Amino acid sequence: MKRLLCLLLALCMVLSLTACGGEQPESVQLFAMDTVMDLTAYGENAAAALTDASREINRLERLLSRTIDTSEISQINAGGAVTVSEETASLLAQAQTYTAATDGAFDITIAPLVSLWGITTDSPYVPTQQEIDALLPLVGAEHLHLSGDTATLDDGCAIDLGGIAKGYTSDCVEAVFRENKIESGKISLGGNVFVLGGKPDGADWRVGIRDPQDENALAAVLTLRDAYAITSGGYERYFTENGNTYHHIIDPSTGYPADSGLLSVTVVAEANGPDFSGPGNGTMCDAFSTALFVMGEERALEFWQTGGYDFDLVLVTADGRVIITDGLSDRFEVVKDSGYTYETVS
Ligand code: FAD
Ligand code: MG
Repeated sequence: MKRLLCLLLALCMVLSLTACGGEQPESVQLFAMDTVMDLTAYGENAAAALTDASREINRLERLLSRTIDTSEISQINAGGAVTVSEETASLLAQAQTYTAATDGAFDITIAPLVSLWGITTDSPYVPTQQEIDALLPLVGAEHLHLSGDTATLDDGCAIDLGGIAKGYTSDCVEAVFRENKIESGKISLGGNVFVLGGKPDGADWRVGIRDPQDENALAAVLTLRDAYAITSGGYERYFTENGNTYHHIIDPSTGYPADSGLLSVTVVAEANGPDFSGPGNGTMCDAFSTALFVMGEERALEFWQTGGYDFDLVLVTADGRVIITDGLSDRFEVVKDSGYTYETVS
């Protein structure tokens, strides 16, 4: 009898494992917004969710890219009063909120200076002080006028959503995953990570924070569920000239690549959850990772403490420290022999 029970139990286990065919991940890699994107989902709707998510990413690129002539952003940059979708209008308004919140460290009107430096183009260039001074007056949220669904830029100004639109895209992918009833998934939009739920076995997702000084190493590991972890750094998009390195995150107050003593900033916040629409925590993390990279350690930590937004931080400094805000202390693993020292701030 005991043997029969054991056999029955074993048979049930095999059947339940087979029934868990949905536990196999579906993954897709795509290249969009000039970056490699990896999407993984578990569950019976995983394939459909990934198809919908890829379509959503391509839709958002067509809407928000600065390099696609027909996008709403290109139309705004071409001048005149432009009627935009409600979606674009709300993202632009949210960007302006973050510009105000960060005292101008995050500013989508940085576009003329991004173009001047040409950092991700085939012909990057170190401009003269005169050239920078000529463009600095074009940077500032006051140059973008939003009225309902109409957007207008002052003459000579332009906008670039490179510092925020991938974060917004991750918000939209979260919504697509939830619409498809996905309970476990992970996406990485070129350094912008979102994890939905935990891993199918119930464990937390392990999200590595790259060592900005070694592309094959990690500076830290976060153990996360239902969270965004979005990183900005100067280590992927840059050029060197006369021994100097110039990266893509421009300090709007100087017109030069930010030189704040930080090598990377990771902003971590909760998932948006169901019944959600519009720019959410992915958008916030993206804007703040760029802004806090510009601000530097002291201002970034002050902003974390007093800015009124709910997020945590991992800062990697040029002098070899990894600084973690205390909301992450139980979701954080040091990397042995990384060469970094680790500090928690509260
Ligand atoms: P983040 O720190 O999040 O953003 C940095 C980017 O934001 C910079 O590259 C610049 O574009 C902008 N920026 C710089 N300083 C500031 C600042 N102080 N405040 C606000 N923004 C700032 N790249 C291409 O080379 N070709 C393309 O065709 C192209 N298409 C894209 C389409 C879309 C919809 C998006 C979202 C991005 C696209 N990109 C393209 C990439 C983009 O130009 C940036 O290089 C990229 O978004 C950097 O993202 P990040 O997360 O690494 O850095
Ligand atoms: Mg950003």
